[in-house]
Amino acid sequence: MTEVFWNRLKASDLRDLAARDAIVLLPVASTEQHGPHLATGVDVVLCTEACRRAAQIVARTRPIVVAPTVWMGLAEHHVALGGTFSVSLTTWHAILRELCQSIVRAGFRKIVIVNGHGGNVSALNALTIDLTRETGAPIATTNYFSFAAACLDELMEDQDGVQHACEGETSMMMAAAPDLVDTARLGEAHGPNITMAGAIARTIHVWKSFGEMTPSGVLGDARRASPEKGERLLDAAAQGMADAFLAGEPWA
Ligand SMILES: [Zn+2]
Repeated sequence: MTEVFWNRLKASDLRDLAARDAIVLLPVASTEQHGPHLATGVDVVLCTEACRRAAQIVARTRPIVVAPTVWMGLAEHHVALGGTFSVSLTTWHAILRELCQSIVRAGFRKIVIVNGHGGNVSALNALTIDLTRETGAPIATTNYFSFAAACLDELMEDQDGVQHACEGETSMMMAAAPDLVDTARLGEAHGPNITMAGAIARTIHVWKSFGEMTPSGVLGDARRASPEKGERLLDAAAQGMADAFLAGEPWA
């Protein structure tokens, strides 16, 4: 299998990949509470794993590399429940700008920021404009879970779409890092059914802490999560992203 992780390759390998105009995926995630049953690193684990799987597919036909995952993001809404790191928008912008500039200075031109955390979505949509201007490279952004949307609709039994520490995220963790799922506490892993799409569709936006929305820290219902569902979701996300990258979609 081709090695796709930047930090497992040598500088000479990366110079060679840059010379071949390789795609660089920059996974961005968050470290935050994920209910009573999941480790705080869920977004880091899942975003990295979705990128790894996508890159393995793409690497069969064109060069690609996965940069080290950004482990912190905008997670103020989780702070009340403990175990959470959160940085401000200006700090996060500065981090992304300097990481993207490093990638450009290493010789790469095709950068896709792949997000794995709901709280980063609107920030990334806005920052794409500034990051493109600041780096002089066309910075593409996407969310890995959006490529699993059809599969989520088909597989989720107790909730709509992807939520938080939910049937979807718990299933994917059971597939990618089962040692980080505390199955003894699965019975407590449920909360209100609030989808991200639904939250965005609200006409008047008011910031809310998860502390007010869900005492368990969970949105959705993880009680019927399974590793089989998780495998299918991760593969759907990876295949969808790989198809888009191979079609040249971000740079069309
Ligand atoms: Zn998250």
